[in-house]
Amino acid sequence: MPVLPSPKLNTTLEGVPPLTNAENVISDLLKEYKSYESISHAQKLLNWDIETYMPEKGIEIRGEILSNLELFQQEFSLKIKDKVESIVEDDLDDFERGIIRILKRHVHFYASLPSNFLKELKKVTTEASVFWRVAKKRSDFSQFSPYLNRIVDLEIQMADRLGYNGHPYNSLMDLFNEGFTVDDADSIFNTILNNAKPILDKILTDGKFSKINPLEKKKYNINKMAEVNKKVIEIFGLPIERFRMDVSAHPFTTSISVNDVRITTRYEGINFKSSLYSTIHECGHAIYYLQRDPRLEFIPGNVEFTAVKDPVPSGGFDESQSRFFENIFSRSIYFIDLIHPYLQGKVINESYSKEDIYIYFNTVRPSLIRVDADEVTYNFHIALRYEIEKLLIEGKIDVNDLPEIWNEFMEKYLGIVPKNDAEGVLQDIHWSNGSFGYFPSYTLGNVISAMIKYKIKNIDEYIKTKNIEGIKQLLREKIHNFGSIYSPKELLMKSFNENYNANYLIKYLNEKYLS
Ligand code: MG
Repeated sequence: MPVLPSPKLNTTLEGVPPLTNAENVISDLLKEYKSYESISHAQKLLNWDIETYMPEKGIEIRGEILSNLELFQQEFSLKIKDKVESIVEDDLDDFERGIIRILKRHVHFYASLPSNFLKELKKVTTEASVFWRVAKKRSDFSQFSPYLNRIVDLEIQMADRLGYNGHPYNSLMDLFNEGFTVDDADSIFNTILNNAKPILDKILTDGKFSKINPLEKKKYNINKMAEVNKKVIEIFGLPIERFRMDVSAHPFTTSISVNDVRITTRYEGINFKSSLYSTIHECGHAIYYLQRDPRLEFIPGNVEFTAVKDPVPSGGFDESQSRFFENIFSRSIYFIDLIHPYLQGKVINESYSKEDIYIYFNTVRPSLIRVDADEVTYNFHIALRYEIEKLLIEGKIDVNDLPEIWNEFMEKYLGIVPKNDAEGVLQDIHWSNGSFGYFPSYTLGNVISAMIKYKIKNIDEYIKTKNIEGIKQLLREKIHNFGSIYSPKELLMKSFNENYNANYLIKYLNEKYLS
């Protein structure tokens, strides 16, 4: 396994030179951090439990417990503030500099937000997520809007307290994608929207990928689908002694520790590809977390201080791994070759050929629900959320007008309009969580996943030869191994020698759907 830039902090390695003064401080900090990592460990497990097994009523006390744990995190960050800020970075190597960079971000976050503010945010978002569920079930935005009004208010305050250059939304996006700005985002969305629209139009005219497939309406047996998902786990070689899969309404992955990574999947009983691709998406995240250098176990993640708490450099890098496995690998004919025999007799009958399944897995059509959107239209859904969040944080639009604004953007981008709030403005959980600034991560994930295909040597060959272990090894060397040590823009330069570049995604869509 390739090693990290500096093994100096690992005392078990041979030939280690004596620690310098800065290294001593870092080593002390990490020892201290280790005890506080216990809080983060507990938070992740408690959050996982909320989504999987906790009885509904448990949320009342659980919300309070989680908010107290958040305050312990803050206490710790303030305790190490002086030590972290006193370190002179000149003599540090990449590994040490990475640790200090992240700890500084932690300290900045917790020092900028008073504890009563954090407590209020946690309280409102915990309540809001309950009322969001009710509102979505009844398809009635007015039952959620008072909470969302309060959350947007807090998010605007948060942006101000954290500080920013340029646009206030930069401050919130930076929490999930360090250094990512409105200028970056505008340029990426422009490239994608301008180029994906003609691709979509041609696909719709051609009709091959856009026609309604009978499998979309076909019911499946949940137990049989669960067997297919188990097979997926096997195909991707996930180690069962370090990994588990459960069921939740909104699939997610969490890394409790490097040896305890958990995913969830969903079973709606209809249109089996939704369940299949949820599983594969989360497997992509899981592979990332499992392939970190184990010595990074007690190193904070770069989104650790947000609700996300993943051991990664950014939301964009995190989603790039899920989207790479979900789309670039598993919507290819090569993956279908692997999975087709296991679908037969379980969720499809013998009359469906590999080619039929390829078309079904790659259906492209404007649709209302983001999580079910295809590769071509997906980023339009994100662009809409990005524009709305930006306007909300600027204070240019009113929360109460969101259903109409949502529908106007849908009409403009995809030419369709939801019939009700449940399939429109209420569909995503993110705003109830207070995850403002996260959505662009999905598009960055798509952008980086295409960069992986074209820029990591041999990976395309491994896709074609279905060499999954080879793919995992390359991703480990280029990305996974480093955990959160490099900032996302540093890691882009290191892995690809360029910044976010959406043209690779356009090249991929063109080659796949139009040639
Ligand atoms: Mg994801």
